[in-house]
Order: sequence, then structure tokens, then C-alpha cells
Amino acid sequence: MIATTTKIHNFSAGPGILPIDVLKQASEACINFDNMGLSLLEISHRSKNYVAVMDEARQLVKDLFEVGNDYEVLYLGGGASTQFAMVPYNLLTENGFAAYVNTGVWASKAIKEAKILGNVKVIASSEDKKFTYVPKGYEIPADADYFHCTSNNTIFGTQMKAFPKCPVPLVCDMSSDLFSRKVNAKDFSLIYAGAQKNMGPAGSTMILVKKDILGKNGRKMLSMLDYNAHIKGESMYNTPPVFPVYVSMLTLRWLKQNGGVEWIEKINQTKADTLYNEIDRNSCFVGTVAKEDRSFMNVCFLPTKPEYEAEFDKLAKTYNLSGIKGHRDVGGYRASLYNALPLESVNALVEAMKEFEKKFA
Ligand SMILES: *Cc1c(COP(=O)(O)O)cnc(C)c1O
Repeated sequence: MIATTTKIHNFSAGPGILPIDVLKQASEACINFDNMGLSLLEISHRSKNYVAVMDEARQLVKDLFEVGNDYEVLYLGGGASTQFAMVPYNLLTENGFAAYVNTGVWASKAIKEAKILGNVKVIASSEDKKFTYVPKGYEIPADADYFHCTSNNTIFGTQMKAFPKCPVPLVCDMSSDLFSRKVNAKDFSLIYAGAQKNMGPAGSTMILVKKDILGKNGRKMLSMLDYNAHIKGESMYNTPPVFPVYVSMLTLRWLKQNGGVEWIEKINQTKADTLYNEIDRNSCFVGTVAKEDRSFMNVCFLPTKPEYEAEFDKLAKTYNLSGIKGHRDVGGYRASLYNALPLESVNALVEAMKEFEKKFA
């Protein structure tokens, strides 16, 4: 069971919902961390108690991804957006090129940053249809320095259901579906995710990186942008975002103790099926993306008549539905079904949609 504190159903796209037990423990740690009589916010990141937090936070990622010591885990500041730059800065060679697939706003931003640092080939894109599908069937050039993709398109609501066979290091922005479903992490050389969608508060970004891809691009590296510097510092080259890392650790501990990714994937599947079934059944709403590419995390849908929107907004309030307004680029509604969102919240949204149809269709 996933429990919530309040009667508010939180579908926020990010920062998103966290498990209530995690929020309670995090609040307690702000006052008295580990029975030290001190706040987590006022102790050294080098103290024994905090180093244990960072170690566990890093180990939990390896456990949940089922990878060994050929991988390292980092928690850095700067958001996923800084990774748009750090990835090419560390992996792109002067005469080489990187291959990218453009599946949305975040992928476009990653491409923009990489182009500043070197050569980029966009080998597939769904921009022709406003990012409402995921391109498939493309070949990844075997001479690329790496291939970059975005597993879940947070804004438009598409998701890669499978990852292409990749002859070069596979790099993935998993910000909005990290640990929501089983992936074979050993197929990836680098995975990054801003914590605020599915694992913690804003302020830290998780990076899983296979060590053997680093240190090969011949660049003179700025320390703060060098993965190797952070690996050497055990993710404490400088002061890490101590509180966001702590809360992320608690969320990953919650996930692991409850049964891990396999456990949450089943619940996420049920949540997504429940909502998409209603969207397809209900005459007042319509989905916005290709069915086979529908995201299980960010469900986008439109009212079938524009005048429905104001009325449904009113009804949604009476059902305590929060954060379902669509992104300004899509309009309509976006319900984010992150790991900590319980099925009962999806049921509440579906009930509201049913009542709406009875009243207005
Ligand atoms: C939210 C998001 C980002 C941006 O994350 P920041 O931490 O705000 O930089 C990048 N990629 C994806 C897929 C996202 O959902």
C-alpha cells in the first residue's frame, strides 16, 4: 500500500509527489538527525553520520539497477540540465560526433548544449508531429562517440518502451521515469535523472556511469564538470546537496524495502491502464499521443470540447485533484503518475471524469 497524508491527490509533473513516510522522516531529520541532537542541515557533510547517508544513497542505486563495481553513482547539483552539458563535455571527442534522438523539449535542450561543445547528428526526431510519438527503426552509427536518448517525454507524454540496439555507449536522461519500470541497466553506459520527478526533492541529480567510458576525450577538464573528479571525491568533491540526497536516499530505501522496481512497475502499470482506459472510454476526453508510445508516468489528454475545460477544472477541485493542468505547450490535462502516487488517486480522477461525462456529455 502507498499511503498519503492529505486528501489532496497530487498529480504534479515536478517537483512531484513523495511517499508520506519519507516526508515524515525528512522533517524529523531537519530537527534531530540520527539522534545526534543536531539538524541534518547543520552538520558537516564529512561527518560519519552524513557519509553513511551518501554511501547508502549511492549503493541503493546500484542495488535497484542491479549493477556492479564497474559502475559509479554520483549525486550532483545543477539539475538534469547541467548533465545536458556534462555528458558531451566528458564524452564527445574533438573530431568525433554524438548521435541524439529528439523526442521532445528536454531532448532538444540536450542537443542544443552538445552542439556548443562539438559535432552532433540528430539521427531521428518526432518533431514533425509535435513529439506525439517515439521514433523507431533508426540505425545508430557505429562510429559515434555515444548515443543519447530521453526515456520519458515528461511534457508531451510519450515513453520509449524499448531501447535500440546500441553499438556505442548508450546515454539516457531518465529524469521522469527513473525506477518506475524494469530496465536492463547493464545496456547503458550513463543514466542521469534530476531527483525531483520520481526520487526526491529538487536540488540533486543522480548519475550512474560506467567507469570505462571516461577519461578518453583528450580534453583538459574543469574539475566541477569532470565525472572523474566527482568519482574520486566519492560524490563529495565539493559540498553535495545534503538534504536532497538524504531525501532521495529515503525514497530509494522505501522503494527497495517494499519490493523494488518489480513491485512498483506492477502498480504503475495498473495506474496507467486505469487512466488510459477511462480516457479511451469517456466521450469528453481524448488522449494526445500515439497509443503504443503512451507514457506510464505523464498522461496527457484534452477535453473533446474547449468549453469543457473550465467546467472540469471546477469539478476537479471538488475531488481534491491537484496538479493536473497540462503543460502550456500541450494544453488540456497532464496527470503525472509517479511512483509515490497511490492507485486511489487515479481512481479519484477517473471518478471525476465519469461524473463529468454524466453531467455534460
Ligand atoms: C524535468 C526534466 C529535466 C530538467 O531537469 P532539471 O533538474 O530542472 O534541470 C530534464 N529532462 C527531463 C526528461 C525532465 O523531465
